[in-house]
Amino acid sequence: MNKNKREIRVRFAPSPTGEFHLGGARTALFNWLFARHCKGKFILRIEDTDAIRSKNDFSQSVIENLKWLGLDWNEGPEVEGSYGPYFQSQRLQIYKKYAYKLLEEGKAYFCYCTQEELEERKREKQKEGKPPKYDGRCRNLSEEERKHFKEEGRKPVVRFKVPQEGITYVEDLLRGKISFENKLIGDFVLLKSDETPTYNFANVIDDTLMKITHVIRGDDHLSNTPRQILIYQALNFQTPQFAHLSMILGKDGTKLSKRHGATSISYYRKKGYLPWAVVNYLALLGWATSDSQQLFSKEELIKKFNLERVGKNPAVFDIKKLEWMNGEYIRRMKPEEVASLLIPYLKEKGLVKERIEPKEKEMIRKIAQMEQNRLKVLSEITDLADFFFKKDFIYEPKAVEKRLNKEYVPFLLKETKKEINELASFTEEELEDLLRNLTKKFSFSTGEVFHPLRVALTGRTRGPGLFELAVVLGKEEVLRRIDKTLAMFKN
Ligand code: GLU
Repeated sequence: MNKNKREIRVRFAPSPTGEFHLGGARTALFNWLFARHCKGKFILRIEDTDAIRSKNDFSQSVIENLKWLGLDWNEGPEVEGSYGPYFQSQRLQIYKKYAYKLLEEGKAYFCYCTQEELEERKREKQKEGKPPKYDGRCRNLSEEERKHFKEEGRKPVVRFKVPQEGITYVEDLLRGKISFENKLIGDFVLLKSDETPTYNFANVIDDTLMKITHVIRGDDHLSNTPRQILIYQALNFQTPQFAHLSMILGKDGTKLSKRHGATSISYYRKKGYLPWAVVNYLALLGWATSDSQQLFSKEELIKKFNLERVGKNPAVFDIKKLEWMNGEYIRRMKPEEVASLLIPYLKEKGLVKERIEPKEKEMIRKIAQMEQNRLKVLSEITDLADFFFKKDFIYEPKAVEKRLNKEYVPFLLKETKKEINELASFTEEELEDLLRNLTKKFSFSTGEVFHPLRVALTGRTRGPGLFELAVVLGKEEVLRRIDKTLAMFKN
């Protein structure tokens, strides 16, 4: 590495206050891609200073889902690193130290206003049509007043002294220069009354101590950035570069949320989306190559990703495209790989037992091979293929009506059974010859012969190739299913 060039260091800094969702994953991914592309470092930092809203389960869920997506981090929980700890809740003393530094330098002050007082004054301001920012009441308290408040038992917060004039510029890599008037920013809180830091404060301290060079995050944080820049300046810290990503919208043009369907990564994982399909899809939410390439290998994506081609306009989440992409990746896998991913779904639905015999494993491999082209998500397998495993599968009434309720069908099934019985072995070719001969012998069309047999064997009108599926079921089971269908006619 060139000595003059700072090593690129980016971070993903989730607050574990809810499920890890698509938007968070996209932010993590863009940071990860940028780090990998620049051969820099990707750091995971858990911003869990809000003791009430942060849950350990949510931290674990971020960690597990990032691992599942394959977004590995160079420093952070579990791997550690030189700038830890990587949970903000374990760094409280550090924030306190810097808050006191600002207090000593007169760049911050204790504020004793209670929540009720603040609310009350805010309401008054709103009535007068003024912006509801903090009015600076405790900015210049005398020793006397401070003593008085302390004696009343008030627990102060530490507020930052925002310059009352001037402009703070955010130089955004995607959006250019954005200006914020300082006088519109009220003196904001750095340390709460329990001495834990606010997001803006802890974020700046950590990005500095962790030597972060680029802050890539959602544009919902854009209004926080001037506040953070003011803290950087007050502490004489170097400001990192910023890139604020546009949010992800639902089809109706509003911010993607639960109303648009599932947004948590865990949901997509459970449903049977492949991690790389999710990554590939998310990469295209706000970024594209000049030739609009859709599918990328990991190496390709890392090589081609850059911030220059990240768009300013919001990206729209399209579940159909994600499904398509997932299907594409399923098709590209080896059948045995697909099979091993399908097994948990089959187990969950009780279609196979916990312990899978080699014969059954081979059967699942063949099913995977047959269904691979139709699967969009892995969990669909239980609906597509349950008839393979269930002896008492359901005959769809529509299929019975359309294909079985014909006068010639019992005769045909009996003939088919007789012929199959005489086969020495049971291969796809033999079965095909046998059925084609039947059509000729009795002057049926192929449809007249194939369709009823498919319903007899599967209970439905659509599915994988008839000969293929019959061979997977095996001769004995095919005969049993024909008998079962014939019995229906008797009733
Ligand atoms: N903890 C913040 C969040 O989850 C991090 C924002 C940032 O990246 O600075 O939104």
